[in-house]
Amino acid sequence: MRDSQPTHLDPRAPLVLDTRDLPRSPGAMREVERVVPAPEDLGLVLIRVPAGTDVSLSLRLESVSEGVWVSAQATAALTGECGRCLREINDELDVSFQELYAYEHSTTDETTDEDEVGRMQGDLIDLEPDLRDAMVLALPNHPLCREDCPGLCPECGALWDDLPADHSHQQDDPRWAALNRLKNSEPAQEL
Ligand SMILES: [Zn+2]
Ligand SMILES: [Zn+2]
Repeated sequence: MRDSQPTHLDPRAPLVLDTRDLPRSPGAMREVERVVPAPEDLGLVLIRVPAGTDVSLSLRLESVSEGVWVSAQATAALTGECGRCLREINDELDVSFQELYAYEHSTTDETTDEDEVGRMQGDLIDLEPDLRDAMVLALPNHPLCREDCPGLCPECGALWDDLPADHSHQQDDPRWAALNRLKNSEPAQEL
């Protein structure tokens, strides 16, 4: 059953931080190491962090007058397809972000917009939205298996890496010339 109050945080959720043992006095600090399962839908069309795989988090929580300043570093596995040759890519994603999570009813809470500064719920911090943003922003829009991947031959779709250097589909290749003659002489097929 789904929680009918989507804003209510579950203190046992892997990406919810409980700050109860962090004194609310500026300068207090705590370090947390945690391995959490990657949330669903973390990725782009060609590349993603597979849901449920390990995301290693190194977190530093510091008390400041208005809330908790979190410095996060995350490492996750990436899988995807090369945008040029469609071969599988297995890589690693490293991201870091810093965010202030304001105490409820602090001046910051009352004078800033929800999207400018994070919010705490009691002693709890929900890291998921900021972790998700940081990871998705760090993903390559055009993932490549390697920087100079030559991709596929546009004529036959074979990997250039597997083709001889002189591979071509010039019309003077008699086999292709014959095929083209055949194509041109046949009437278009009705579907
Ligand atoms: Zn490639
Ligand atoms: Zn070809």
